[in-house]
Amino acid sequence: MSFIEENLKDVEQRIQKACIRSGRRREEVTLIVVSKTKPVSMIQEVYHLGPRDFGENRPQELRDKSDLLPDDIRWHMIGNLQRNKVKYVTGRAVMIHSLCSDQLAAQIEKESERRGIIMPCLVEVNVAKEASKEGVLPEDAVDFIRRVSVLKHIHIEGLMTVAPFVRDPQDNRPCFRQLKNLAVDIGRENIDNVCMRHLSMGMTGDFEVAVEEGATLIRVGTGILGERDYSI
Ligand SMILES: *Cc1c(COP(=O)(O)O)cnc(C)c1O
Repeated sequence: MSFIEENLKDVEQRIQKACIRSGRRREEVTLIVVSKTKPVSMIQEVYHLGPRDFGENRPQELRDKSDLLPDDIRWHMIGNLQRNKVKYVTGRAVMIHSLCSDQLAAQIEKESERRGIIMPCLVEVNVAKEASKEGVLPEDAVDFIRRVSVLKHIHIEGLMTVAPFVRDPQDNRPCFRQLKNLAVDIGRENIDNVCMRHLSMGMTGDFEVAVEEGATLIRVGTGILGERDYSI
């Protein structure tokens, strides 16, 4: 068995156990394999093992890889997205996880309208209020979502967060719980053109806790494909 196959099996078992512990069904949680910086050949190997959801954080990399890989891959744009690069992502990604500014929303709207599509997006929330992180602040989320909700070619489908880097994954439980509670609160507002069916949270270090707290999309890179080399 290759290391990728072993890792994938291990991650899968841990997702299943976290589902059992929290009384959830496995089908409620989608594993997104974060393939940023990794070669097409590695993605092909994962693809042949079953997963169809892959995450990238650089628009051109998502574009280039999606052009080379099977059409039934669901690409997720999970990283900071600059306005001038939206065009690489619309029409290719099934979801943008990192919507967090009005300017970005306006650009996604424009590109999606041009292509005649409705772009599913998650609003990135900086739950832990880290200065280094993207995302709207929790207290600003409702107003932001109300403003975006009038854009006809964007469909907000939930929230996303990148939790702090911690040694003990349990330390991120309050962060995940806060995102979940925020989604519930926003859902109760019944805003037109907005649903809160997705919570994108949990990475290699803390995805089990995220599943226990209600994640529907988890983003796992290193834990499946190994450490990333940014020097290449
Ligand atoms: C890189 C990245 C991940 C995956 O991180 P790992 O720790 O390697 O699992 C998840 N989410 C986002 C937004 C990322 O940029």
